[in-house]
Amino acid sequence: MTRKFNFSAGPAALPEEVLLQAQQELLDWQGTGLSIMEMSHRSDEFVAVAEQAERDLRELMQIPEQYQVLFLQGGASSQFAMVPMNLLRGNGRADYINTGIWSKKAIAEAKHYCDVNVVASTESNNFTSAPSQNELRLSDDAAYLHYTTNETIGGVEFDYIPDAAGRPLVADMSSDILAKPIKVDRFGLIYAGAQKNIGPAGLTVVIVRDDLLGNTLPGTPSMYDYKLHADAGSMNNTPPTFGWYLAGLVFQWLKNQGGVEAIGQVNHRKAAKLYAAIDGSGIYANPVAKANRSIMNVPFTLADSRLDQVFLREAEEANLMNLQGHRSVGGMRASLYNAVPEQAVDALISFMADFERRHG
Ligand code: PMP
Repeated sequence: MTRKFNFSAGPAALPEEVLLQAQQELLDWQGTGLSIMEMSHRSDEFVAVAEQAERDLRELMQIPEQYQVLFLQGGASSQFAMVPMNLLRGNGRADYINTGIWSKKAIAEAKHYCDVNVVASTESNNFTSAPSQNELRLSDDAAYLHYTTNETIGGVEFDYIPDAAGRPLVADMSSDILAKPIKVDRFGLIYAGAQKNIGPAGLTVVIVRDDLLGNTLPGTPSMYDYKLHADAGSMNNTPPTFGWYLAGLVFQWLKNQGGVEAIGQVNHRKAAKLYAAIDGSGIYANPVAKANRSIMNVPFTLADSRLDQVFLREAEEANLMNLQGHRSVGGMRASLYNAVPEQAVDALISFMADFERRHG
């Protein structure tokens, strides 16, 4: 068996150690004679796994006590609706920053529930930067400010945490949660689909400040009410138990790597060397403003797009998988999440140099 280098944007690479542990205990979880997948979510065994995962995530992100951590289903896309349903709290307007395709989807969904004020948009430069703080035209009466910390498709990452002028700040952190240290207390709510830096698809993590709970829009389905999930320890109904367990293994793995600070340094180094290789080449290009280049998702183009398919085929022959850019933008994209080892990036860089020598 050959494990290949996986640059997928998501579902994405998982740490090999985690997959091996899951494999080892798949049929018999810790001497119980059952798979963790076969256990009741209310069993002592599973509750212990679930609570440990939450404790580890709290430790990794230094989540203050007054925040709830929820383990939900529905993907980040469900949060596009859950956020306005829960956080409008009687207000008719919300502020959104538009930095790309995922921001736009969040905005489109929020428009079903309130007036959306787009406080800044980088659409005019084809989403190749993030706006600066003084470009944000905040409304006086917005219930919250929403932004996407890292645009997975465009490869645009904020290099600062916006100041929401006293309103709750809401972040879609799907593609850069746990990639580097962040100050959770700057946020009212953080959400992330698991399938990039947390675990398998099917689990969505929400971190929300207590005081924002309990005032939903009339007609909100109970399954879309954060308070219901918070009060029930995310076990109002059957949670995605296997994803939650696997996320717990990933959190333990991350702690063994030295935590978010340590992996953040590795992530910066991995991304910096790939961008340097792109900038130093004669045939590769990345259009994003340097300060906003994502450390997680690195899109790049070839000078001659007729070579795209050749590049992808030869990359696969070199065991470098899933480098095709998003279908909406084309080109290439290398996602460098926590579980993508530095050797994978080194292998990609030497492949790219070799490809340029042969085809450039
Ligand atoms: N937001 C961002 C930033 C994403 O990258 C994605 C998925 N790629 C989503 C939201 C949607 O997530 P899901 O597929 O879990 O609904």
